[in-house]
Amino acid sequence: MSGRIGLFGGTFNPVHIGHLVVAQDILNKLKLEKMYFIPCGTPPHKVGSDMLEARHRQAMVKLAIRDNPGFTLSDVELKRKGKSYSIDTVRHFKGKYPDARIFFIIGADILPALHTWKDINILINECEFVVMTRPEHDTIEKAVRNVGHFLNVRDVEVSSTEIRNLIRAGKSIHYMVPREVEKYIADEKLYKH
Ligand code: ATP
Repeated sequence: MSGRIGLFGGTFNPVHIGHLVVAQDILNKLKLEKMYFIPCGTPPHKVGSDMLEARHRQAMVKLAIRDNPGFTLSDVELKRKGKSYSIDTVRHFKGKYPDARIFFIIGADILPALHTWKDINILINECEFVVMTRPEHDTIEKAVRNVGHFLNVRDVEVSSTEIRNLIRAGKSIHYMVPREVEKYIADEKLYKH
């Protein structure tokens, strides 16, 4: 692989069509060869709450992306012991693809907290940030235009929070997640309480 690769991190609790649509959008716009979906680890104190353990979140991502050769699951953050930092993730991929351009995807909502990230000044030189913007984030966007690329992505009004709430309320999540993810959630009786 010569290289243009995207890193798309998230909790994916669960993965939904919003994630898939924007990931494909970005892959097309930046002409990426691969988009890596990177579920974050589960902090021990969060298991048992709304946050599913990693194996379920990972299994759902696997099901959601398996028909797309441009999408790949990475368990690099799941395998890491202790606290996980983006700088370590980016360095992992730089080691794997030394000649590639690495695009690190973030939501515009994260921008205000970016300066608190570990080694952020190093990180912005080790990869190219791609900030997914939506119309309401215009002001933030203008304030930090020097961070990297800004890409307007399609607005898909779906979030994992909404999906979890619908399930808890006994409502259907049909069309909001891929069919196989819907089936997995039902079979494993996830997010019921
Ligand atoms: P939650 O509702 O639990 O906070 P979420 O739906 O935002 O979850 P995450 O796994 O936290 O999902 O998201 C991973 C990345 O995908 C983040 O950068 C987030 O901004 C982005 N994202 C999530 N949902 C959408 C969407 N509908 N459209 C565009 N980007 C999205």
